[in-house]
Amino acid sequence: MRIIHKLNEMTETARGWLTGGSVGFVPTMGFLHAGHMSLVQAAKQDCEISIACIFVNPIQFDAQEDLVRYPRDLERDLQLLHDINIDVVFIPRAEDIYPANFSTYVIPSGSMMERLESLSSPVYVRGVATIITKLFQLVRPDVAYFGQKDAQKIAIVRKLVQDLNIDVTLRILPTVRDSDGLALSSQNYLLSPSERQAAPSLYRALLAAKSLIEQGERRPDVVSKAMTDSINSEPLLTLNYATVCRSDTFDPINVIQPGTIFALAASIGSIRLVDNITWLENGQWLL
Ligand code: AMP
Repeated sequence: MRIIHKLNEMTETARGWLTGGSVGFVPTMGFLHAGHMSLVQAAKQDCEISIACIFVNPIQFDAQEDLVRYPRDLERDLQLLHDINIDVVFIPRAEDIYPANFSTYVIPSGSMMERLESLSSPVYVRGVATIITKLFQLVRPDVAYFGQKDAQKIAIVRKLVQDLNIDVTLRILPTVRDSDGLALSSQNYLLSPSERQAAPSLYRALLAAKSLIEQGERRPDVVSKAMTDSINSEPLLTLNYATVCRSDTFDPINVIQPGTIFALAASIGSIRLVDNITWLENGQWLL
């Protein structure tokens, strides 16, 4: 396992990729869990060369305190990546990625970028789009892996890859959950025991929506109210949004049909969690 910190070493290494075969890339913010590792596993299966990045991206955080307390354990992350036999780990330094004179941001626009996470964060879309574009330039992957849990991140990356003609294939993998349904997240480790007990309410609210659909309910406002009520019944949770919309555009809908995403964000104390499920075009559920 090779560890790269320096940007020019990453660029030099990427220049040599062509001779080695296809490159599968997993960008992460570290504090790895089984969700991240499912992406690494897929990269290893699909590609000759596997590379993960660990970088807590400062420009996608609204509040400095969220950035500071983001969980980190590099030693443990490196052990996990070593054990799975990844080829390269890229760990750039924030001051190299964003030097003092940095001034070029990637800012996707359009209604899709104004929904979900953007409702509560003015910097999220720009922060994600900018770091992913920079990482794609540095790593030059053939395939990049993302988890379905972060639905808006996927939308941002799809858009920038299309609009900026970036030659990379995106592969989206399902959300990995704990046995009680809670979507794995690095932030889960910041929850107190009682908060951790309350956290699966997000998934329960999504399952309540699914159950309504299965009973024939098709009105988005009724389903989103059921999700809202379900979250509100848990005193430790504060709802940020409960959205029922088209999965491809995040546009509002009048009637729920296959191709609909049910997305939630809620805060527990100062921790913000997101989750979603999708009723796919083929009638199956992506849970
Ligand atoms: P993060 O470290 O939170 O930036 O996440 C890095 C990548 O892992 C993103 O593509 C996430 O969507 C993905 N990811 C995070 N949590 C999960 C999960 N529970 N299941 C699958 N993928 C995940």
